[in-house]
Amino acid sequence: MNIFKLNTCECACPICVDMCKHTPCWGTPEEIFNMLPEYKDSLVLLKSINGTYVVCPTIKGVPHKSHFGRDFFEGECIFLKESKCSIHSIKPIEGRIANHNVSYWDVRLDLEYMWESEDGRCVLELFKELISNDLT
Ligand code: SF4
Repeated sequence: MNIFKLNTCECACPICVDMCKHTPCWGTPEEIFNMLPEYKDSLVLLKSINGTYVVCPTIKGVPHKSHFGRDFFEGECIFLKESKCSIHSIKPIEGRIANHNVSYWDVRLDLEYMWESEDGRCVLELFKELISNDLT
């Protein structure tokens, strides 16, 4: 599957909004890189169930340092404001293609593959450097 060929979706129905309340969307390393350093305090370093480290939006009430390296992450996305995505124009690809009619089970596997690449590792290191003061 080429996730970049999937249709984007602008739906704001309760089912789609619930996705943002359940777990924050993931992006490509390039997308997250473009959110740095401005949004570093709203992002988290997360370990997937497959053991891959990714950087993604954090959840409300949880500073990024609290979830450093955890492998379970569920809650309302920090960017969800009044049932809308407050970073709509730059939201990560998983959020752009999310659609209540379709399940894209492979999206996170594709994104994990990207985060395991050289580019992904560079963004991980940059993020860790940016938040290093908060982790000490
Ligand atoms: S970044 Fe936007 S689209 Fe993605 S989970 Fe958060 S509120 Fe939803």
